[in-house]
Amino acid sequence: MFDGLSQKLSGILDSLTRRGALSEDDVNTALREVRRALLEADVALEVVRSFTDRVRSRAVGAEVVKSVTPGQMVVKIVHDELVAMLGSEAEVIDLNTAPPVAILMVGLQGSGKTTTTAKIAKRLTDKSKSKVLLASLDTRRPAAMEQLAVLGKQVGVDTLPIVAGQSAVQIAKRAHEAAKLGGYDVIMLDTAGRVTVDEALMTEVAEVKAATNPHEILLVADALTGQDAVNTARAFDDRLGVTGIVLTRMDGDARGGAALSMRAVTGKPVKLVGTGEKIDALEEFHPARVANRILG
Ligand code: GDP
Repeated sequence: MFDGLSQKLSGILDSLTRRGALSEDDVNTALREVRRALLEADVALEVVRSFTDRVRSRAVGAEVVKSVTPGQMVVKIVHDELVAMLGSEAEVIDLNTAPPVAILMVGLQGSGKTTTTAKIAKRLTDKSKSKVLLASLDTRRPAAMEQLAVLGKQVGVDTLPIVAGQSAVQIAKRAHEAAKLGGYDVIMLDTAGRVTVDEALMTEVAEVKAATNPHEILLVADALTGQDAVNTARAFDDRLGVTGIVLTRMDGDARGGAALSMRAVTGKPVKLVGTGEKIDALEEFHPARVANRILG
């Protein structure tokens, strides 16, 4: 998915590498191209600006060590700054509290929230050997509740039985009781989505948050929607204080901007990325690997 950006950046920086001397002009020429490539990848303008400023201030006047060419040095600075922008370390889902640990899944309808909930449940079951209980809080869309039940069955994870007529908060509380009685380690609460961020959605999710005291609030956002995904993340974070982001559809032809801007704009880590419709198409987000892929 980063192919376009990666090729552009490496093309520009390769030509710089061959020139052998690093002047302020060289840095600025390279940065003009870096800036263009990032904007084409749909990275938020404010992020592009602060990124190129940071690279410039480190690159211009920097003493070039003998073992590398000036060009390689710029590549390294761009790489380091990309890693810093992406969040430095891979972040994992934090289960480090008394069970049952509540994970609240939030996001817009169609972002891949329900699928991602099942993917994470499977991952926690397989890798952390956690006993997970799934519950859908989407009271307006019975089909969404059914979908979670079907996915739960598919991955061999229990789902809270559906009881018609309960509110989202009532379901969340019932899930907590059931998890305590059943000795579950983790409860994953799949909240309702809406087509856009609206007040009714935010109020409902805020009420569920207040009632469940979740240890993680994971925002699921569609990478294909670029800067809209970043704006959505900011809106959810402002209102709810998310603890991490899952970017879906990273297998698609997204230009990469969402992945690059998320951390810088929201200050919250991308913890996982969805890379396909299949239930095991979920990967950890490793900033250094992503930066390597971008630079090629
Ligand atoms: P929700 O409305 O947010 O709960 O979205 P769903 O979980 O129902 O997902 C909507 C569609 O997106 C489904 O067809 C999923 O299979 C698909 N989907 C979810 N995550 C990914 C992903 O990472 N890559 C791809 N290609 N499709 C995905």
